[in-house]
Amino acid sequence: MESVTGGTSVLIVEDDRKILRVFLTSLEAEGYRVADASSGQRAIEEVRTRNPDIILLDLGLPDIDGLALVPTIRAHTAAPIIVVSAREQDADKVRALDAGANDYLTKPFSVPELLARIRVALRSHAQVGTTPRTIISFGDYRFDLAGRRLLRQDQHVVLSATEFKLLATLARHPDEVVTTTALLKEAWGSAHQDKKGYVRVYMHSLRQKLEIDPTRPRYLVNEVGLGYRLNTTG
Ligand code: CA
Repeated sequence: MESVTGGTSVLIVEDDRKILRVFLTSLEAEGYRVADASSGQRAIEEVRTRNPDIILLDLGLPDIDGLALVPTIRAHTAAPIIVVSAREQDADKVRALDAGANDYLTKPFSVPELLARIRVALRSHAQVGTTPRTIISFGDYRFDLAGRRLLRQDQHVVLSATEFKLLATLARHPDEVVTTTALLKEAWGSAHQDKKGYVRVYMHSLRQKLEIDPTRPRYLVNEVGLGYRLNTTG
């Protein structure tokens, strides 16, 4: 019998056997295919070899902080990552989301809540495709992430390395807000978290190249206090 979740694979990264058992029992009962990893190192191997559809990631792992693992996993897959942690501070939530996680679940959680979060994450991911999109279209533009080039009506638009990184970071999450912190990290690395002005300067230059009216941007939209969004629908 085909279940609605049949074929969807979940990787559970969790070192606590009791919590792992709850995950395994409830997810298998729903028809998910489940794999588990009890350390960060195992998690990376599982992501590489199994290419799971969604990842549940505990932050407190024996070998590495789960937060540090998020960008490593993200470098291998666009699959949704739901961070699961006993930590309740908002700072951790923002850091996990900034690092590339899609959602955050605080222990203790109920099984229905867990299942609902998984469904939401999978559904929102399915809307942008189950495999990472490498061509993003907006207006007259085709942005080829894999080929590292931007075309406007088949004409090549020259971007600097930094402009490319910023636009690529936005294009990986089309129509979603990407935080200024996330943009800084992608383009300049985590040592430059205090240089938010950099992002503003480079967004200005990207708008000069891309926008018909840079003072009224149609594609590179600022979300005040949060970051920027690449508008592909306008
Ligand atoms: Ca743990």
